[in-house]
Amino acid sequence: MNCHICSQSTSKFVDKKTNITYYHCKSCEYIFKSPLGYQDFDAQKERYNLHENNDEDMHYQAYFQRFLDFTLPLVGTPKCALDFGCGRTSLLATLLEKQGVSCDYYDPIYHPYTLEQGKKYDLIVSTEVFEHLHQPKEVFADVVARLNECGYLAIQTQFHTNDLTQFKTWYYHRDTTHIVFFTSKTFEVLCRQYGCHIVEHNAKNMIVMQKGKIDA
Ligand SMILES: [Zn+2]
Repeated sequence: MNCHICSQSTSKFVDKKTNITYYHCKSCEYIFKSPLGYQDFDAQKERYNLHENNDEDMHYQAYFQRFLDFTLPLVGTPKCALDFGCGRTSLLATLLEKQGVSCDYYDPIYHPYTLEQGKKYDLIVSTEVFEHLHQPKEVFADVVARLNECGYLAIQTQFHTNDLTQFKTWYYHRDTTHIVFFTSKTFEVLCRQYGCHIVEHNAKNMIVMQKGKIDA
């Protein structure tokens, strides 16, 4: 199996607990579960419906606030933003609106008809979305195409450590809807492919990228 991000060859390993096969790319550090185990749309929706996301929940607000505290100092003064894959809630969009940023939201399951054809954004945020994607490279290309030139893409997803011994005991891939796993290196490779560059990442779970070459 070749890597779905950079097309280099991968090595595979099997999780003995679950019997799930994983592929690991040493070139871009992408790890993905065997596509044979991917769930269909309805099964995913059922699983997401179990997530209790209450907009009033203070912990949930604090969780988004941590993401915004990392992201907003890095992205200038965006006028319009998009929360891509917001889930059931539009809370993150609401928090951005409070910061004076007009914000649309989209989710393939809960808000599927909210994207305006051809509309472009200064900032696109996507939290806990990319680990669910069957085709992250294609989605990355799609969101970058929705950015204005020099616009920013801020993603939150847990990075793995690129150590397979640690990976095997990591909680994050036990969620059956979590199927693909990144490091900052994987995003660096994606950036190179789609004319972006990394502005900053925290080596853990957040990364901000900008459309355009680094010296643009
Ligand atoms: Zn790769």
